[in-house]
Amino acid sequence: ARWRRDGGWGDDEVVPFGPIRITPAAAVLHYAQEIFEGLKAFRHADGSVWTFRPEKNAERFAASARRLALPELTVEDFIASLKAVVAADEPWVPVVDETSEASLYLRPVMFASEEFLGVRAAHMADYYVIASPAGDYFPRGVQPLVVWVSESYARAGKGGTGQAKCGGNYASSLLGKYEAAEHGADEVLFLDSETHTAIDELSGMNVFAITKDGEIRTPALTGSILEGVTRSSILRLAEDRGLRPVETRLVMSEVLESLASGEIVEMFACGTAAVITPIGAFRFDGGEQVVGDGGSGEHTLALRRELTDIQYGRIEDRHGWLTRLV
Ligand code: PMP
Repeated sequence: ARWRRDGGWGDDEVVPFGPIRITPAAAVLHYAQEIFEGLKAFRHADGSVWTFRPEKNAERFAASARRLALPELTVEDFIASLKAVVAADEPWVPVVDETSEASLYLRPVMFASEEFLGVRAAHMADYYVIASPAGDYFPRGVQPLVVWVSESYARAGKGGTGQAKCGGNYASSLLGKYEAAEHGADEVLFLDSETHTAIDELSGMNVFAITKDGEIRTPALTGSILEGVTRSSILRLAEDRGLRPVETRLVMSEVLESLASGEIVEMFACGTAAVITPIGAFRFDGGEQVVGDGGSGEHTLALRRELTDIQYGRIEDRHGWLTRLV
């Protein structure tokens, strides 16, 4: 659908995937006025298709739109657009068994499409949703990540766009990912940009630590990290398991000490794509610190199992997190 400042949102339509026409002077190509979301559609055993907490993504999309001076889409229109796309693409929602975790990935996008070279909020924006089948993230079982702690780059600064899901944040994280790969790591961890001491997040995942006396800690929402839907769900599921959630400042040097002393026993990263992924070790300039025994922790795997069991309808949706799409 297309939005115009003087007319609001126009009609939407579902069309086969293919190129779109865009003017070389489109505002987005110059000033990165663009936001997106990521969700999954899951097939249940009876054939029905569901998605997970789409209202959270809709609210985050609206918040991202406000931050990037783009028009807002209502929660209802956002969810209706997912339903329209998945209804058309229903055969592409993978059939799964008890252990596989394939899904249909959904990517809502909004960008400034106005032909205008001046720097100001665009008067025209386009919204679309693409759908793409996603196979198992870990076809050979869950593999712990080696995480590189970046000293060179930060993901977001105070007052910046860290809390928004906008393309520019990812553009600025790419060199950090290269740096991680050069050090043989799978992912990059960004520290806060102000003091460069506390954990913010990975390039596409939030971070958690579990202590041996049952605390589950994650960085507080200070404005520089994305408020993950998986993050908020884990805080609930962890409480259900008798863990004590704490949203706080996680100073990297203290985390490394707690890992060395055995106070922190498990760490993991989480997000829609990888669900919950154990962190096996941190690598940094001058060393490496293993997490626990370097494998997959007991709570980490149990939380992962519980979350995916809810998403695939294998256990009761006790928090009312699922929305039926087809
Ligand atoms: N942080 C960043 C920077 C991300 O891109 C994502 C993925 N959307 C997350 C955290 C996790 O968010 P969610 O659980 O909503 O996928």
